Amino acid sequence: MLLLILTRLLKGINMKGNSKRLIQLILNMSLALLLLATACKQALKQEPLVRQETLQSEMTCPYCQYRKMETMPTDVCLLKYTCAQCKKDLFPKDSDCCVFCSYGSVKCPSKQ
Ligand SMILES: [Zn+2]
Repeated sequence: MLLLILTRLLKGINMKGNSKRLIQLILNMSLALLLLATACKQALKQEPLVRQETLQSEMTCPYCQYRKMETMPTDVCLLKYTCAQCKKDLFPKDSDCCVFCSYGSVKCPSKQ
């Protein structure tokens, strides 16, 4: 929009030789900058807003010491985990928000 007004304004002014070429160059550069800015904006949009978190946690059962790698959900806190070996239900300890914080090798995403 601004560029269009500028072009019209320049057309109104009668330029000769080098000055006209210079203006053309400036206009081209502005256009290039505009395209570059748009490209940058798009690149920024594509960048993930949330940093990559460790979503793999090794769960250790306090009853049978059985270990198993589990993928942690990012949207919810898991409050109950059933051991794959002894089938006992594990619940978070008093100060922890989820079973991963209590029994996992990695804290849950909300604590990272
Ligand atoms: Zn177990």
